[in-house]
Amino acid sequence: MLEIKNLHASIEDKKILKGINLEVNAGEVHAIMGPNGSGKSTLASVIAGKEEFDIKKGTISLNGEDLEELAPEERAHKGIFLSFQYPVEIPGVTVTNFIKTAINESRKARGLEDMPANQMLKLIREKSELLEIDRKFLSRSLNEGFSGGEKKRNEIFQMAMMEPKLAILDETDSGLDIDALRIVANGVNKLRSKDNAIIVITHYQRLLDYIVPDFVHVLHDGKIVKSGTKELALELEEKGYDWIKQEATV
Ligand code: ADP
Ligand code: MG
Ligand code: MG
Repeated sequence: MLEIKNLHASIEDKKILKGINLEVNAGEVHAIMGPNGSGKSTLASVIAGKEEFDIKKGTISLNGEDLEELAPEERAHKGIFLSFQYPVEIPGVTVTNFIKTAINESRKARGLEDMPANQMLKLIREKSELLEIDRKFLSRSLNEGFSGGEKKRNEIFQMAMMEPKLAILDETDSGLDIDALRIVANGVNKLRSKDNAIIVITHYQRLLDYIVPDFVHVLHDGKIVKSGTKELALELEEKGYDWIKQEATV
């Protein structure tokens, strides 16, 4: 599904990604871990197409189609979903109305009519039941006074509603409490299917106690220096990142 080959990316001439190779197939959950500043969020941004990063070398493709020239919106319409790191507050716009608009915008960009109201309601009901989100939450103003856990719940709900081919969840350092952690993990576990792929980026081994990834990759200084299965995450929990750094510099 996603194929990244020898990807080098910079921001303002500072080299950040230095030769990433990664293949993610439908049905898989990949965890990307690594110390602060190793380039995890940059990788997510470059896949999503954020324009402040320059691709210097290498390729990114989704189902065989090159992405490098596409704007973030176009990538989103092709089924790439990146969780929002700093969710905006939109007073007066409810969780439900925001997602309805997003879905219809996306359909419009693909030349489709608005989703019929009854189909939309059915989808909302289905996804909110799956994720155990109550009605009251759906009629709250977007992000207004949301707790950390509620922001995560909204993010996971958006992801569920958009039904992306590839979802990237960047769990930044911003205090994921145990509640938020469970919400994310529960959502990922419920939304994984043979047709989609999920990349979970995390600094915390803890998250992977709840999500069992098929593959774990460790990023260090802009490169994937080690890949493995869930056991690698346990090893990291035990030994920290220093041994990886040492191995990487030999
Ligand atoms: P991680 O998510 O693994 O903590 P980041 O991708 O956020 O790492 O950052 C990797 C490196 O790129 C860091 O050295 C960081 O300072 C730098 N960086 C990230 N974003 C920017 C930016 N907008 N401008 C300048 N440097 C940046
Ligand atoms: Mg960071
Ligand atoms: Mg980050």
